[in-house]
Amino acid sequence: DQSETRFPLTPNASPLPASERADKLVSPGFGRVFTDHMAIARWSDEKGWHDMQIVARGPVQMDPAAAVLHYAQEIFEGLKAYRLEDGGVGLFRPEENAKRFRRSARRMEMPELPEELFLASCRELSLVERDWIPEGEGGALYLRPFMFASEVFLGVKPSAEYLYIVLASSVGAYFKGGAPSVSLWVSQEYTRAAPGGTGDAKCGGNYAASLVAQAEAIRQGCDQVVFLDAAERRWVEELGGMNIFFVFDDGSMLTPPLTGTILPGITRDSILRLARDQGITVREERYGIDQWEADARSGRLREAFACGTAAVVTPIGKVSSPQGSFSIGNGGPGERTIALRDTLVNLQRGRTEDPYGWLER
Ligand code: PMP
Repeated sequence: DQSETRFPLTPNASPLPASERADKLVSPGFGRVFTDHMAIARWSDEKGWHDMQIVARGPVQMDPAAAVLHYAQEIFEGLKAYRLEDGGVGLFRPEENAKRFRRSARRMEMPELPEELFLASCRELSLVERDWIPEGEGGALYLRPFMFASEVFLGVKPSAEYLYIVLASSVGAYFKGGAPSVSLWVSQEYTRAAPGGTGDAKCGGNYAASLVAQAEAIRQGCDQVVFLDAAERRWVEELGGMNIFFVFDDGSMLTPPLTGTILPGITRDSILRLARDQGITVREERYGIDQWEADARSGRLREAFACGTAAVVTPIGKVSSPQGSFSIGNGGPGERTIALRDTLVNLQRGRTEDPYGWLER
């Protein structure tokens, strides 16, 4: 029920003037422009979820002994709100983010936020902040729901108190001028996730542990790191913040399976569905780094792309490791990559019929 308010609004007494907001929306980039409000809710073991509100965005007061600052009990999500052609605001498959947030909470021994509260916080905040959605290609409001342990206690145990917050950030096209190809560095020294670990949870610690590998990629002149499995250092898993797909010369596709060490991306799931509904064979199978190189050299592999909420679909042009480099196709965006990206973007922005009911208006 969209008319019911779960997060009552206390308006920001001094919101940014419209002219200054307009300046910020010209070229917002990613993750630096924030709106006037945030949604919050609190958990305590005694009260459960309580104190739901939308308030002025601002600093959060924290005791230096708050558990998250020591043991990193924190999870987050990322989804986009789009300005639709009819003037409305659309969220793309937000219930999938709500479910993943609950799964992440379970893995980190945190309380599960009921899906209806997650959805209400995102929906209500995006409506309050609709004027912060940039116009133009690629513009969106990136929503960042997150939850962290706020109990003041230095013992290692699940916190008895948590704070849930949703931030909204105006973002532009992740890559200006469409989708240039990215280059990948194959990390052989570092892995992202081990069996039984937290690889399929969206917890901050996973990203902290990925930074050294990403920094190595940059030092090697590459854009992004691609991780291999922890046990054999052989099977391609995913990038630091995106899943990966391969396109072969027979038209079929492949993406690594959800074995517990990679994040189940909502973009990944959407692309699987779109491709299969177009009659494309997509295998969810392991793919070895040696095979990847052999297929790229023989021409059996035609395209590869990464996908996620932030950058949508990003062609992969080149892959480097200590053993050398190889290119994929002609190094530029492939036909299938671009076609799938366009289909997905048109659905996300409400420009085509939506047989899946993925866009929530
Ligand atoms: N893998 C990782 C490690 C990520 O952080 C993300 C971004 N959430 C993804 C994949 C892509 O997930 P989604 O399509 O849901 O954004």
